[in-house]
Amino acid sequence: MQRIAVLTSGGDSPGMNPAIRAVTRKAIYHGIEVIGIKRGFTGFIEGDMMPLHLGSVADIVQRGGTMLLSARSEEFRTSEGRKKAFENVKRFGLQGLVVIGGDGSFKGARVFHQEYNIPIIGVPGTIDNDIVGSEYTIGFDTAVNTVVDAINKIRDTATSHERTFVVEVMGREAGFIALTAGLAAGAESILVPEKPFSIDDICHKLLRGYKRGKLHSIIIVAEGAAGGLKVGEQIKQKTGFETKVIILGHLQRGGTPSSYDRVMASCMGAKAVELLMNGAKLKMVGLHGGKVTDMDIDDSLLKKKPLDIEMYDLANVLSI
Ligand code: ATP
Repeated sequence: MQRIAVLTSGGDSPGMNPAIRAVTRKAIYHGIEVIGIKRGFTGFIEGDMMPLHLGSVADIVQRGGTMLLSARSEEFRTSEGRKKAFENVKRFGLQGLVVIGGDGSFKGARVFHQEYNIPIIGVPGTIDNDIVGSEYTIGFDTAVNTVVDAINKIRDTATSHERTFVVEVMGREAGFIALTAGLAAGAESILVPEKPFSIDDICHKLLRGYKRGKLHSIIIVAEGAAGGLKVGEQIKQKTGFETKVIILGHLQRGGTPSSYDRVMASCMGAKAVELLMNGAKLKMVGLHGGKVTDMDIDDSLLKKKPLDIEMYDLANVLSI
């Protein structure tokens, strides 16, 4: 293997930069050239690529976002678009590709591999932590810490003014951020897409807390469970409590990656190169039993990652 490429695709996540760095340096260490593809599959189609050297990835280990930029490409969903990308595989002499992104990016990688047989390794890079086959996805820890940090601040003002706060967090399909941040921040209720909820139950809990002298309440809502604004309005109507709504939005995608994300990104990026060197065709890197391993992308895309129900139940017990 003489030359590989790396791209970041889909929603960005803190830790993509250290992953790019690890792919680049691990490959160069083994005498393999690395090409960085800009804007995910968009740059792949357009041939927007640049050689990455040791110095190209210097001073990025601590930076959020992705130096290669990320994008969502409708054109890559078409066979014409992917054909253009394959022209660039030939033009740049690429013998392998590392795709850092979420499950959508892995679907794109799979179809491209099926059509053109180029070896591709997926590295799970998404704040959602929703990829089957990996206990962890790069960016999740930083995103959860961002949410917890925001809630700590919200709690201060919530207490001063004796208010209820509804905090909407990211997670269209999965409630991992809401659940983990909710447990860490001691939220009163956590609403996730995977579990049905009742506004009446939430309100009863709030009223119970109020009666025993609670000065504030925090409700975390994953965006896929319900709209934060609507939940806030319903709580206000049913309890009469002054209720404020905060939508954290893209704040959760930014920031310097946590040390855990940097370590995971470094291990997973390096593992991706190792897999290519060992002749893997279509795999993803994943964390399993605390170890960085690999699995077939096909198997990963078959299922939806289940929420940790024990953790969900525990959060309910502790917020009684
Ligand atoms: P996130 O989890 O942050 O949303 P993602 O990788 O899941 O990240 P998507 O927008 O779902 O983000 O996918 C990224 C890109 O992958 C899409 O814009 C598209 O170019 C490509 N892609 C997704 N699904 C397919 C598919 N079925 N066929 C071809 N390409 C696809």
